[in-house]
Amino acid sequence: MIALIAHDQMKDEMAEFAQAHAAELSRYGIVATGTTGGRILDVCPDLALKPMKSGPLGGDQQIGALIATGEVGLLIFFVDPLTAMPHDVDVKALTRLAIVYDIPMALNAATAKTLLSSIRDTAAASGG
Ligand code: PGA
Repeated sequence: MIALIAHDQMKDEMAEFAQAHAAELSRYGIVATGTTGGRILDVCPDLALKPMKSGPLGGDQQIGALIATGEVGLLIFFVDPLTAMPHDVDVKALTRLAIVYDIPMALNAATAKTLLSSIRDTAAASGG
């Protein structure tokens, strides 16, 4: 599965990204934090997207657990570089797990586009 998360100031960018890449994303199961998932489903209602809790309420940790169990194989996380987050420790824990389990992780749209096109012919994002 692919995990999609965007901080509040980055949600418009994530919605645009998902819309522009809906065909590619539709090949995979998708999980997203609650609010991000809602925004994506508004523009891509046909995606097989499972929303988790909102990030500050535990959604980041739920996605971290899915990385640890091998179910999420690609993380696309549009991090807001200009705003302090009350759940900054969760953000760090999630990106740390992506490193620990050595899964591809995109923290901005440029990297996300590159990763999504490079996994097209692989099973990298399909997870367990
Ligand atoms: P949200 O969570 O999609 O529920 O806003 C994202 C986050 O801030 O971690």
